[in-house]
Amino acid sequence: MVPIMMTISPDALALTSRLILHVDMDAFFAAVEQCDHPELRGKAVIVGGSERGVVSACSYEARKFGVHSAMPMAQARRLCPLAVFVPVRMSRYAEVSRRVMSVLERFSPLVEQASVDEAYLDGGGLERLFGSPLQLGLAVKQAVLQETGLTCSVGMAPVKFLAKIASDQNKPDGLFILTTDQVREFLDALPVSKIPGVGRQGTEKLALVGVRRVGDIMGYPEHFWRDRFGKWGELLYARAQGIDPRPVIRETKAKSEGAENTFAEDSNDRAEMKRWLMDQAERVGRRLRREGNMGRTVTLKIKFNDFTLRTRGTTLREPTASTRVIFETAAHLLDQEPLPRSVRLIGLSVSNFSQARRQLPLFPTRNGPAGEPLDMALDKALDTIRERFGSSALVRGRIFGFRKQS
Ligand SMILES: [Mg+2]
Repeated sequence: MVPIMMTISPDALALTSRLILHVDMDAFFAAVEQCDHPELRGKAVIVGGSERGVVSACSYEARKFGVHSAMPMAQARRLCPLAVFVPVRMSRYAEVSRRVMSVLERFSPLVEQASVDEAYLDGGGLERLFGSPLQLGLAVKQAVLQETGLTCSVGMAPVKFLAKIASDQNKPDGLFILTTDQVREFLDALPVSKIPGVGRQGTEKLALVGVRRVGDIMGYPEHFWRDRFGKWGELLYARAQGIDPRPVIRETKAKSEGAENTFAEDSNDRAEMKRWLMDQAERVGRRLRREGNMGRTVTLKIKFNDFTLRTRGTTLREPTASTRVIFETAAHLLDQEPLPRSVRLIGLSVSNFSQARRQLPLFPTRNGPAGEPLDMALDKALDTIRERFGSSALVRGRIFGFRKQS
């Protein structure tokens, strides 16, 4: 048992002026499917890719059987064989997500999208418009429901990490408000695993020093945490005092684009892996071009059949959104990679973004119709065709005839 010595600095919790909302859609992908397909309502719905992939989302009806997201699909099928299994429709979820975000922007000029189904709102000064925090929270939930037909859970607290924890307290369709004077008591009793970034490994490490509740963290002085756990320890010590200075930042742009596929069967076939990389480069390149992004870093990701993961990245001299450059860079990384075991999953991503700038080589040798290099012209032509006829309308020669698995 850890001796508890309370050494809270008097201003640690004096953040009364701040009110942050964390809005988290309930079982988002599954809820969208149930909303779009009324026959799925009230049923166990599991959203996932291929049979060998993992569960992307599941309805609350499915959770009763112990199914949760990130669980292998095969296991989900064993636990809940009568569930309705539906494929992931990412573009549809992105569309609903944009509607949710635009609803939230009616409430606060400061909305930070944290993921496809989560956002932080700065609630400072909103009481004059919407009344008490309770009224504000209810109004947000009501507006989201009216606009999308979907429920969300809202957490309200003086700082970001507490708002996030709060939104999880009464899920689904929850509302949980944590006022400044309740924070200390709330944190003392809170399991450390609830702090974002602690995870299962962190929880185990903390258990070794007898720390199970957030309140226990205060039983050791700050230097103990710094010496033993470095930056992570310092962060924990701050969180245990309710400190989280991160502001809500209006920043919705993605910082990377990626794609990956789990093979139907583990593979040693480099040619097959490259066909997948081509398909992924196609998807990633198209998303980059659509958003007007270019990235300098291309990363290859390989998961072996023993679930060990290897990532290899390379930074290009010029940022790119070209399908060919992305593919060739990833394929080159794959060529250099020994494959000691068969491969279960392969993926690539592009990061290190800069805004797309039309920077043409001084002496382009191969030009397309608009004077841009041939690559760019080809990408543009293929993008236009796909916008009009769907993404399977046209595949480059390299992947032609290769059946998609997920
Ligand atoms: Mg959610």
